Parts: sequence; C-alpha cells; structure tokens
Amino acid sequence: MEFMFNPKDFINSPYGDCPFCKDKNSFGVLMIHTNSYTRRCKTCMKSQSYRLPNIRKTIIYLDQFVISNMMKVINPKWKDKGIVTQSFWREMFEKLDILSKYQLIICPDSITHFDESVVSSNYKQLKRMYELLSYGITFEEFSTLERFITCEYARKWVRNEVIENDSLLDLKSVIRGDFNKWQDRFIISVDLGNNDLIIDEIETHNERCRDDITNLFEAWRSSDNFNFNEHYLYELDQSGKMIVKIYMEYLQQCDRIFKGDTSVNPEILMGNNISILVHSVKSSLVSEGIQSENSLEKTFEFFLSDHYKKLPPLRISSLMWTALARRAAVVKQKRIPKGSIFNDIKTISNIFSYCDAIFIDKECASLLEEVKSEIGYNDTRIFSMNTLDEFFLYLDNIKENMSKEHENQVYEVYGKDRIKPYTEMYL
Ligand SMILES: [Zn+2]
Repeated sequence: MEFMFNPKDFINSPYGDCPFCKDKNSFGVLMIHTNSYTRRCKTCMKSQSYRLPNIRKTIIYLDQFVISNMMKVINPKWKDKGIVTQSFWREMFEKLDILSKYQLIICPDSITHFDESVVSSNYKQLKRMYELLSYGITFEEFSTLERFITCEYARKWVRNEVIENDSLLDLKSVIRGDFNKWQDRFIISVDLGNNDLIIDEIETHNERCRDDITNLFEAWRSSDNFNFNEHYLYELDQSGKMIVKIYMEYLQQCDRIFKGDTSVNPEILMGNNISILVHSVKSSLVSEGIQSENSLEKTFEFFLSDHYKKLPPLRISSLMWTALARRAAVVKQKRIPKGSIFNDIKTISNIFSYCDAIFIDKECASLLEEVKSEIGYNDTRIFSMNTLDEFFLYLDNIKENMSKEHENQVYEVYGKDRIKPYTEMYL
C-alpha cells in the first residue's frame, strides 16, 4: 500500500479562525516548541508562531512500584487476569497525568526504572507508563552524576574554597532534556534493541544484592554497642577508602597485563566506574594546576579527605545505611530488607536533593525521614503509602495554585478536551 503523505495531517485542534484567509475554524496547531508554538491554516497553509511564557515545573520522582501499579490499574489485561488493583492507583494516575498535561509537573525517569522494567515480562507497558509522565526526560545515570559532583568538589577542595553541605549540581547537568518546556504532543521513545545481555547482568546483580543484604543485616543484628554517629562516620570513611583500594587493584591488574600475564582478563583495561571516576578527578585536579606527576597522589588525598565526605549523595546514602543498621542492631528487626534496597538507596541519594517531591516505598521513606534533619538543607517532600492522603493533597494544591492565565494558555495550545487522563493507553 502506498503511503500518502498529507501535510494537513500535522495540523491539529484546537482550531481558530485564520487571520490570513479568514476561513472559519481552519487555523490549527502545527507544532509546540520549548517556549513557542506554531499554528497553520488548513485552507491557505499560511502559518504563524506565538511565544509561550516561561514555566517552572514541579519535579516529582515516582518509585518503580508506583509506575507498576498505575500500569496495572488502567490495563485491561490485568483485570482479565483477575488482578484487582486498588482504586487509589487509578486516582493517582489521573491526578499525575492531568497535572503533567497542564505542564505543571514533570516526573523524570531514571536508570532504575529501566533496570527494574527490562527484567519484567511487562517491559514495554511499564516503559510506556514512565515515559508518558516523563516525556522522555531522564535523570543522568548515577555513576555520571557521582562523577560530576565529585569532580566539582575536588576542584573546590584544591582551590581551598569553602564547601557548603548544600553545594549541588546545576539541574541542567542532572536531568537530561529540557524539563521546563511546553511539551510537544509526541513522545519519542528509544529502545535499546537486544536487551538479553543487560537482563543477565541485572539478574546477576540482583542475586548478589540479596546475598549481600542478608549478610550485612545479620552482622549488624549480632553487634552490641551500636552508636549512630560512629557508624555514620565509618560509612563515610569506607567510601573513599574503597575507591582507593579498588583503583589500586585495577592498576596492579593493568600492570600485569602489560607485563604479559595472560591470566588477567584483558577487558579490565576498558576500565570500570571507579577507574573512570578516579581518572576524571585526576584530570580536574590537573586542570586546576596540579602537576601531572603528583596528580594521582593528590587524587587519593582528596578521596580520603573530609571534603570528599561532604558530597551530598555520599552523606545521604551513608545516613540511610546507618539508619538501617540501627534497625538491625538496636531494634533487632527480624525482617531482612529486600536486595533492591541497594538500588533504592543509590537512586534516592542521587536524586533526592533535586526533586520537589518523591514517592517511595514505606521502608525507604521512613529511613529518610529519620535522617532528614541530618541532611539539613533539604526541603524535598517525602511521600509513601503511609502518607497517600497528604500526597493527593499536595497534587491537588499544585492544580489549585495554577493561574487562570496559565490554564487558558494550556487550553489554547493543547485544547481543553485533551486535558484528561490517558486511561485508555493500553486499550
Ligand atoms: Zn488561511
């Protein structure tokens, strides 16, 4: 069948009267850009662009279980299977999707959504759900975020600049894509092709996490004399020491390969997250005037310094791990957390400071609440199933605070009839 291309197909409602040929209801929306949109007439094909005001969207991070439950509640396939998901998930989806269509919120996705979806048999459906609410706007990979902020702190350290606890990265380098833009109506989705290798890797990682948390938790539980501050300092201290240790091992292995030792896998030369991190910090220090021959020594000095321990993601994750250790050591909690706690803490510690609100599982939310005052500067709202009503109220407030001008602008660009939840997404 021949594909017939009609340029008029790209002109969409809402229509108005054409200012050029004066035809009634023919002047539709052709394209929506970051801060402007274009209308074109279906009759005379003349077009005109209009400016749109700058907007600042509320950034809300949703844990994977939220994505998964919202997908199930609006997906008839799950109803057919007899799985009835509680109606508040539908309510949550409707509130979020409407706010997103009003251009008031953005729910960026992250590598965690991908990792936790790709191993599921519902990968495509999950991906559709998180991309509907993120418009493809995504947090940088966490190893990249950690590298950016570590290099920034290293540069400040070598310049003897005072590092405040709230020195964070610019949002533009944390979130990939222009999140404060008027969204076009289309979502461009990229699929990574064959995922089998990635799936194997994630499944092996998940198994290791299950074993690790069991061992850790049991070790904590058998300890007496738990002291929160001591444990927190220990966690902070370990991170820099581990980086130096892993990097030294990497150097030794590279050295053996160069000397012809065939028992070492040559793929090691490709590097790992730690070697990339160390190399980046080293280059940052050289660019600040540190002599090349001293740069590795200086890099190690930084990782073992108190300045490194001020990194927000490191402080947040160390505090959360310490709060978890306290539950084992002091409360003698019997239930061992799931292996996914590693991913959860990594995700939260990297994105928390950049969000206006996060909705996470009850365990992580309560760990985070316990240590929130220690993090200090942060005013990110933390929500979980325990505070569902507050979350709904928070979302309702965002809508109520929308100005009449903004609302009318949205109707003019997208059409009032389009501002409704996409509950038929999986039909
Ligand atoms: Zn016209």
